[in-house]
Order: sequence, then C-alpha cells, then structure tokens
Amino acid sequence: MDINIHFTKKQENGSMTSLSLRYLLKKIIKIVVCNVTTYTGYQYITGSKSDKKRLKILTYHSINDRIDPDETVTPDEFERQLQYIKENYKVISLDEAIECFQTDFEKISGSVVITFDDGYADNYYNAYPLLKKHDFPATIFLISDFVKDSGSKYLSLPQIDEMKSNNISFGSHTISHQILARLPNEEVVREIKDSKEILESLLSQRIDSFAYPVGTRADFDDATIEIVKACKYTCACSNMYGENSENADIFALKRIGIETTDTFSLFKQKLDGALNIMSFKDTKFFQKLKRIFFKL
Ligand SMILES: [Zn+2]
Repeated sequence: MDINIHFTKKQENGSMTSLSLRYLLKKIIKIVVCNVTTYTGYQYITGSKSDKKRLKILTYHSINDRIDPDETVTPDEFERQLQYIKENYKVISLDEAIECFQTDFEKISGSVVITFDDGYADNYYNAYPLLKKHDFPATIFLISDFVKDSGSKYLSLPQIDEMKSNNISFGSHTISHQILARLPNEEVVREIKDSKEILESLLSQRIDSFAYPVGTRADFDDATIEIVKACKYTCACSNMYGENSENADIFALKRIGIETTDTFSLFKQKLDGALNIMSFKDTKFFQKLKRIFFKL
C-alpha cells in the first residue's frame, strides 16, 4: 500500500495522476515469470503446474474504479474474473474448505475460495452485488477499529448485517492492522484475541477465521500462529503466495493475491499455477537471504 516512488501521467481529463514505479515493475515481473514458466514448460517439469486437488484461495482488497490501494481491482475486471471462475471452478466458502481439510480433502477438487482483506466499503457497493448475482460465497476479513457507522471508506455495521445474511462471512484482520511479528507479545495477544471478541459482539455471531495483516512470511511467526490457535480460531490465512495441498497448515493458509497489475490473461495464468514459482519468496531460506542482503 505504501508508494514511495512516483511519476506522473497525463490523464484524458487533463488532471495529473500518479502511478507508482513499483506498480509497473511488478506488472513486468509477473508477465515475464508467467510467460517463462508457461512457454518453457517449467511448471510441468517441476510439478508447480496447478493441481485441481489443491485449494486455491483468492485475496482481493478494494473493488473500485479508483485505484487506491494498488491492490484494487476494477468492478468490470472483477466481473470478468468471476465469470471465468464460474466456467472453470466451483466456489466454496472458507468454512466448507476447512471442513474438507478435516474430513474429506477429495471434495476440494476444483474449488476456489474468495476472500477480501481490510473490509473496504466498496466490497459492499461493487463486489457484493456481483457475488450475489453468481451466488458465490465469500469471506471478508475486518479490522475491528475500522468498522464504522456509515459513510467511511470501510464497511459499516448495516452493510455487514445485510451481507452476512446473503452468503458473506466475516473474519478478523486484527484491531488496527499492525504487523504482528513486530509487536510485543501482549500486543499480539490483544490484536488477535480482542478483535475476535469485539467483532463477535458487533456482529452477534462467532468469528472463526483470521487473516494476518500484510501476511507475508516476514509479517507473522510461529508464536503468532500459536496465539491464533489458543484464541480458538479454526483457521488463518496468510498472503504467502500459492495453493494449499492436503497437508497444508490451516493456520498459515496460502493465498493467490489478485491485484491491479493483473491483466485478464495473467489472472487466468495465476489460477492455472503459472506463478506458483513465486512462493519461493515466502520460504524461510529466502527470508533469511533477504535479511542478510539488507544488512550488507
Ligand atoms: Zn490487510
């Protein structure tokens, strides 16, 4: 979400808008990786080619024509993606998926789970009508401090209430969206435990799922996972890139992040596993390497 380097581009209406260099760089890297893995057959050789028996969980953030934050997907693009999912997969709820992990993983075959982080109000205005149209369940991870009455950038209680009776479930994304690995232990407990209690009281329902803020391998650790388990959540999603096999850790589920920089063909390739190679970023080895590199 933080954009450090900007350059400006003249828009059709004459106003100046800023685009991040990081945004363009990300797009180029993804297209190159996708094409290299697709056309060299790398994903077939290494077995990183998507397997329908692995659970795919998609992460969305904002669904809006205004690209802010830069993980935003436009409503038109979102509808196109849902249509593609409808034609090629079946959408199940996160609850159903967790049940499959515990009972019969075979049932997971060909399934996709749709999730949203941060609880933006545009999830109600732009995503919810499309999800309803396709009869797709989804989970939205809320930051408890950001649930406001109405008129803010984030979801209000009346909006949440309406969605929860129409196939949308809610999970916790902490109280204030701080990176848990950087907080003292008692703060981590507060963010994980109290957000559950606050949301349960606001929504008058159980909150069973959790998503780590930012959620890369560097943003939570084994101690964080233990706290999530102790607080009686049934699962937790990270934003480590990838799919989940039968023996996946349901308290560090991998997800496939969908971003502004994904063209439609990139989206299809992501679902097809062409970017699974990117999961190396979240290995402990790569994190260690990164720490050494940044110390130099
Ligand atoms: Zn978040």
